[in-house]
Amino acid sequence: MTSPMPVDLVVATGNPHKVDELRTLLAGLPVRLIGLGDLPGARIDMPEETGSTFEDNADLKAAHVARAAGLWALADDSGFEVPALGGRPGVISARYAGAEGTREEIDRANNAKLVAEARAAGLFGNPGGAAPRPAARFRCVLSVARPDGSVACRGVGLCEGVLTEEARGSGGFGYDPHFLVPDLGRTFAEIGHAEKNAVSHRARAAAELRSRLAAALGE
Ligand code: IMP
Repeated sequence: MTSPMPVDLVVATGNPHKVDELRTLLAGLPVRLIGLGDLPGARIDMPEETGSTFEDNADLKAAHVARAAGLWALADDSGFEVPALGGRPGVISARYAGAEGTREEIDRANNAKLVAEARAAGLFGNPGGAAPRPAARFRCVLSVARPDGSVACRGVGLCEGVLTEEARGSGGFGYDPHFLVPDLGRTFAEIGHAEKNAVSHRARAAAELRSRLAAALGE
């Protein structure tokens, strides 16, 4: 039996690391992942993320790129949620503090704002008392759109843990230093890529997407 011809799938991100990561997570499917920067012809700009949910934003990015390229497209949208803070930072995770500067400066400002909010809401307890840690989670949605812009399938992944008041670890990015996975006893900034990929929200979203994408390509 011959394997099916791979379908070109444009990854709707300007970040080559994400393309590599998704290539690993979707290995074995009959798809050839192409970065936006590797497409011939005019550059495709990413649309504004105007949706109010991760699903809306992943869909609108995938649909936009699929239509512009005339190819299947895959987009992801992810962020951090603290249920006791009404799910904030949520869809605005990347720009929570509204800071400008380097990625590190923006991450530091976002983390400082989140920890200050959690402290003000009493989520870390009182000085001298027990130190509770509020629940927190990462969420990732992966959406695939057909060349006409219609959404074919999605995968959603969650990674549950707790928010820590103190930053721990020097690896990772974003909210990683304040996200502790109780089973591991370490924050995402204290574990390596392989360990993070085994439990991460993106890996879980990709695992859910796999069978749905295989079915959609065979329609
Ligand atoms: P994006 O989907 O790559 O735009 O990510 C949105 C934002 O969510 C990032 O800028 C981070 O602040 C946060 N985020 C998403 N995934 C992670 C992660 O794995 N670790 C830390 N922060 C993350």
